[in-house]
Amino acid sequence: MRFNTALLHSAAPGDKATGATLTPIYQSSAFYQESALQHEKLFANKAPGFSYTRIGNPTIAAFEDRMTVLEGGMASVACASGMAAVSCALLNITQAGDEIVVSTGLYGGTIDLFHDFEAYGITTKFVDINDHELVKAAINEKTKLVFAETIGNPKLDVADIEALAAIAHEAGIPLIIDNTVASAYLTQPLKLGADIVINSTSKYINGNSDAISGVITDGGKFKWDFEKYPGMKEFKVFGKLAFTAKLRNGLFRNIGACIAPQTAFYNLLGMETLGLRMERACSNALKLAKHLEEYKDITVNYPGLESSDWHETALKVLHNGFGAIITVRVGSKERAFSIMDGLKISKIVSNIGDTKTLIVHPSSTLNVHSSEQEKKDANVFDDMIRISVGIEDIEDLIEDFDRVLKEN
Ligand SMILES: *Cc1c(COP(=O)(O)O)cnc(C)c1O
Repeated sequence: MRFNTALLHSAAPGDKATGATLTPIYQSSAFYQESALQHEKLFANKAPGFSYTRIGNPTIAAFEDRMTVLEGGMASVACASGMAAVSCALLNITQAGDEIVVSTGLYGGTIDLFHDFEAYGITTKFVDINDHELVKAAINEKTKLVFAETIGNPKLDVADIEALAAIAHEAGIPLIIDNTVASAYLTQPLKLGADIVINSTSKYINGNSDAISGVITDGGKFKWDFEKYPGMKEFKVFGKLAFTAKLRNGLFRNIGACIAPQTAFYNLLGMETLGLRMERACSNALKLAKHLEEYKDITVNYPGLESSDWHETALKVLHNGFGAIITVRVGSKERAFSIMDGLKISKIVSNIGDTKTLIVHPSSTLNVHSSEQEKKDANVFDDMIRISVGIEDIEDLIEDFDRVLKEN
């Protein structure tokens, strides 16, 4: 099946028992068991089934299966948020004394999380992910993973996933990619060599901004060295699914960062139109970026523009478009604020991936906990506005920007 067909007809197409065209919401915390023996088997991973929704639920499983197909992986674990997914995935294979090598262009919340890791003895080395010599130099025998975003939010750098996978694999460590901003519509990181993919499904997957969630998808191809990852040894019997088995039997269930069945339902519904929405939003973003570039007093950053430092990499990594996020530098924080206040269609919201166009001033909000150097490395400036372009009629978006820019 091709992309849009798979979104409608792949894994979990509705409910076999009743013919319902949508997977029902199993709004139940727990499930009856046929017998005590069956229950014992369930807990020992020796029988399929459901026991308690923190660990698994049919609606959630349907969403996980569709995410696995979407990202071309082996298995997925849905979590309470994108942040929960990043936390669980990384802590699943790290312990005190370990190091991780990550991109400077990450989402502000993720940078904050890596500072929280310090209290647990996990040290983060931030590097420009496109400087491959720096990435190699940052890796040592304590390093347990490389982490980057396909398209950095809001740096809008594009990671050369194939090259990074080769560097990570040479060092015997996995590459974990946050694919939130690109989504599988633009690229499937697992096909390019990444080992684990994370999505904040609060964004493009859900599509309508009606619920928070995140998903970890396991490619199942990484060869775990059990000396280097002692915690994985116990899960060797699960073969290709060792990473997911460890997660499900450990940190994920014990931290309790489960997704609600209702949210899984919203996501299953929302993701049916992922292809259509991305096609429109990417096309709108390219048109808006090109239009704004004509203003001499504005600097536009968008991977789809030839002026972007990451245009070449974008052409290699992304298909069907360049994403729907643009950042613009307008000269001063004051001007940024008056432009934001003046726009009528684009709303001030700290979110991306909505059907509606959203604007934010990252420096004073999303990245407010970052140091000045961290902001600089993440291309976050005082005069910068991030635009998450929606699926409105592009003429209306352009007219709104033109009117405000004439007044400011
Ligand atoms: C929003 C976002 C996250 C965090 O996801 P939540 O669902 O808000 O917890 C992580 N990474 C990226 C790239 C994001 O845009």
